[in-house]
Amino acid sequence: MSLGEFDRIDRFFAPLSRGAEGAFGLTDDAALLPVAADGAAWVVTVDALVAGVHFLPNDPADLVARKALRVNLSDLAAMGAVPYGYTLALALPPDLVEPEAWLDGFARGLRLDQDIYGIHLLGGDSVSTPGPVTLSVTAFGTVARERALRRSGARPGDDLWVSGTIGDSAIGLQVLAGADGPCVDPDATFLADRYRLPRPRVALGPALVGIATAALDVSDGLVQDAGHIARRSGVGVRIELARVPLSDSASRRIVAASSLHRDILTGGDDYELLFTAPVAQRSSVADAAAATGDTVTRIGRIEAGEGVEVLDADGRAVEGLARGGWSHF
Ligand SMILES: [Mg+2]
Repeated sequence: MSLGEFDRIDRFFAPLSRGAEGAFGLTDDAALLPVAADGAAWVVTVDALVAGVHFLPNDPADLVARKALRVNLSDLAAMGAVPYGYTLALALPPDLVEPEAWLDGFARGLRLDQDIYGIHLLGGDSVSTPGPVTLSVTAFGTVARERALRRSGARPGDDLWVSGTIGDSAIGLQVLAGADGPCVDPDATFLADRYRLPRPRVALGPALVGIATAALDVSDGLVQDAGHIARRSGVGVRIELARVPLSDSASRRIVAASSLHRDILTGGDDYELLFTAPVAQRSSVADAAAATGDTVTRIGRIEAGEGVEVLDADGRAVEGLARGGWSHF
């Protein structure tokens, strides 16, 4: 049978805590977070991922680990926070094939991203489950206390911006699910990778502090998440469809199947930042993005009113984009 819990911690997880102040090499009952700098606040977020729901059961373990970390880092970025570290809860089924190889890949993925994002494992737990592989990551970051980016600060007249490209992940999931045939061409490979490995905007988020009036990360679909800004800020959000940035790969797929256009607006897992900023801040937004090496695109504006309206190239409202419980067009 597999390693005991303590051997498992020693071998796979304790090395990931090295260098973290207050983690004690995962040898004590809990970790100590250092006091945040003067005027700074801790930002805490948690995401759970379940095999078969949030990733595919046969996804490589290193990619599962990295996605679990990155979706949390995306939430920190959406608050304008700089990431510090994370804790991890892991539940593995007893019938997992080659559990040590799985854990080895999983820890390797965590190590890779820890190095990329400058964070450490601070603590965690690993248990057995009769269900599918399930993991939960809690991430910690810091932001200037009064300047965290909230969903509630958008004002009529503000521009609406989004980072990166939208829809790659939704199409990538279709590719991986086989709805689109096997992954043979470079576009399919690119799109599948965008689903499996989000690029959280960890530098852009903090760079927008003091510039953006509201922000969130797009995890449930552009239209639905824009609705959160509308609701929390008490404003209307107008999105111009033709301005929504697409990757070359997504554009080619959409030319081939126009029905995909709908999927990119309502599909999830983009992990891009959707934010608002006053018109007077346009050059500041561009400078911040240039400084962090991210692309940003102005896709619409904030209006007095409520709900989300998507306009096509002719200025006509695009209907029928509602998905899930709440929508208002
Ligand atoms: Mg979020």
